[in-house]
Amino acid sequence: MTARISRWPGIELTAADLHEGKVTQTRFRPDAKYAWSAGEAMSRFLEELQNGRLIARTCRKCARVLFPPRMFCEECFRPTDAWTYIRDTGTIETFSISYLDTDARRIPEPILVGVVSLDGASPKMGMMHYFGGMTKDEIRIGMRVKAVWKPKEERRGSVLDILGFRPLGEGES
Ligand SMILES: [Zn+2]
Repeated sequence: MTARISRWPGIELTAADLHEGKVTQTRFRPDAKYAWSAGEAMSRFLEELQNGRLIARTCRKCARVLFPPRMFCEECFRPTDAWTYIRDTGTIETFSISYLDTDARRIPEPILVGVVSLDGASPKMGMMHYFGGMTKDEIRIGMRVKAVWKPKEERRGSVLDILGFRPLGEGES
């Protein structure tokens, strides 16, 4: 048995009814606060940044060190196995010389951004960040770099707890 509705009960409102105030209305600005979980791997990664450390996950099957850490290996289709710290030194994988800031405004002095593959992680595993302590003419792919950390009390559990990556000095590791 099916019930058919041929006519909706009530009175249909038009836009004009709203504009002319024929309907009771209220306006408010909600003070909404949001919180969400970054997930197991990313939460630990952010927490460790606050301590000035970079953490990765290992996969026993393909013997890779995944960074940033992930709880699942996309090569083996299985959960990763353990946490491991990697170093805060690495190699510039790619870079851009940008004359636009983060708000897409034109800037006279370029910012240098790109991907660093980090020592201790598997090849091509890295993070995107700023480069400093070098000019646009000096930066090159393959350059050895080291993280410059914010002072501990200013760290917030963010990738910006690292100010950027600067050239690794002679004999420095
Ligand atoms: Zn794997």
